[in-house]
Amino acid sequence: MTQIESNEEIEKKSLNFIEQAIENDIKEGKVIDKVHTRFPPEPNGYLHIGHAKAICMDFGAAEKYNGLCNLRFDDTNPVKEDTEYVDAIMEDIHWLGFDWGDRLFYASDYFEKLWQFAEEMIKRGKAYVDEQSAEEIAKQKGTPTQAGTNSPFRDRSVEENLDLFRRMNKGEFDEGAMVLRAKIDMASSNMHFRDPIIYRIIKHPHHRTGNKWNAYPMYDFAHGQSDFFEGITHSICTLEFEVHRPLYDYFASELAEVENSTYKPRQMEFNRLNMTYTMMSKRKLLQLVKEGLVRDWDDPRMPTICGLRRRGYTPESIKAFINRIGYTKYDGMIDVSLLEHSIREDLNKNATRISAVIDPVKVIITNYPEGQVEMMNIENNPEKPEEGTHQIPFTKEIYIEREDFMENASKKFFRMTIDKEVRLKGAYIVKCTGIKKDANGEIEEIYCEYDPDTKTGMSGCARKVKGTLHWVSTQHSVPAEVRLYNRLFTVEDPSAETEVDFRTLLNPDSEIIIANARIEPFIKKVAKVGEKFQFQRIGYFCVDKDSSDDKLVFNRTVSLKDSKN
Ligand code: ATP
Ligand code: MG
Repeated sequence: MTQIESNEEIEKKSLNFIEQAIENDIKEGKVIDKVHTRFPPEPNGYLHIGHAKAICMDFGAAEKYNGLCNLRFDDTNPVKEDTEYVDAIMEDIHWLGFDWGDRLFYASDYFEKLWQFAEEMIKRGKAYVDEQSAEEIAKQKGTPTQAGTNSPFRDRSVEENLDLFRRMNKGEFDEGAMVLRAKIDMASSNMHFRDPIIYRIIKHPHHRTGNKWNAYPMYDFAHGQSDFFEGITHSICTLEFEVHRPLYDYFASELAEVENSTYKPRQMEFNRLNMTYTMMSKRKLLQLVKEGLVRDWDDPRMPTICGLRRRGYTPESIKAFINRIGYTKYDGMIDVSLLEHSIREDLNKNATRISAVIDPVKVIITNYPEGQVEMMNIENNPEKPEEGTHQIPFTKEIYIEREDFMENASKKFFRMTIDKEVRLKGAYIVKCTGIKKDANGEIEEIYCEYDPDTKTGMSGCARKVKGTLHWVSTQHSVPAEVRLYNRLFTVEDPSAETEVDFRTLLNPDSEIIIANARIEPFIKKVAKVGEKFQFQRIGYFCVDKDSSDDKLVFNRTVSLKDSKN
């Protein structure tokens, strides 16, 4: 990989185009009071890394300009929404390090005001109830090059419209029987202006308002107005809303007129985050959870914030990643290895080093005294010498990684092989003298002799060997389950594969469970759920919530180096 700026260097990057625009607005006196943004999640799923990009923008811009950022749940579709999601979203935003203070809002808080505004639009002859089916309405939309056709219900009287609209909400009509449409222009070059639907009937209890409403506003008739009610100055969203912006402005102007105000929120758009080997669609993530294809929303393979947290990501590493990729006006695809790079850099600096053997094979040091235990000093973190050392017990029988031994090794193999010397990290140089195999030809035991004059740190030991292996004592080490995580999908852009069922693109090796890893005993003192470690020579690991007093469970956050798997 080419040289990547460090997490710190990234912090000092220049302004992005949204920040520049905000600064201009401030300079030109367009921001009367404070910069005021909002983050508007729909509580229909858990937040993912894409949302983190939006959160860093919305809360970040407010922070940067001494402004405010509201949290507003965009809960206008009761069918898909749930309080489980509301709670999880709040937890994740806080975990990322942002806070909305006392400004927690719901679009549903504005249902009454939105209703009044809709009635006002009807009274002004700017909205009508259409009794056509969704298909008929779609047919009349026209195409970008061809004007649409007016609905036969377009010119009914204000009284009739008001009456029907109110009855829509009383529950007198079935879902789909009629809708409220804004009366704008069926020939507009912007398709969104061709009499957009602004209210529809949904007969499903809402997670906050229960059965009070049977008619609900559409996104386009709720979002900008909610911004208006909250005094939002900059309503920052993703590029797919760019084409909605004229409509956003239209309703905001209409509302300002009704309210006799000159204020208008400004919508701005940036590119959404798409990442290789990652699925960002909430609908499909929900499907993975519902069908048990992953452990849950917080499965360490999920791109959700809670999944990343369980995987071992830190808020700092996620923010460093977001800063690194930046904000532009063009959609693109980000290499997931950039995200991995950010956590690797963070954990390299901060994670305590631990000896862990994931695929153990026993080594017997034949000339080491039976029953002797020597406590060897191991640095906690070479990046932070001030964090000192801890001790690891050395004994006659130890485990090393099975792959660190090779029977018929080439000259270039610097790990353990018969008749060659290697160093056991923090301990002695040993020479392999032989092996024992079981009936299947699998190596059962490896025999070595140690050289007592080669103890690490001992003065006068000038001997150098090329290979250094990590190890743990068979007697003192503790058992652990280790879950090795790889990419969840086998293809770079799973969303692009529209021809196949996305579930066939799942990587069968995305989770590999190692039941019998062995870890040095120091881990018992320091392992807490969520705590992160570097397993020497292997990778970064995080204690999973499935751990118990009897068994520790670790998730591999990332390997030590970028391996492109
Ligand atoms: P839905 O299809 O359910 O609307 P959504 O991903 O747009 O899904 P929202 O809850 O509406 O979900 O998103 C909240 C905010 O997060 C929006 O402002 C949206 O633009 C932003 N957002 C969502 N996905 C991404 C992404 N991949 N990258 C950047 N921002 C995103
Ligand atoms: Mg959305």
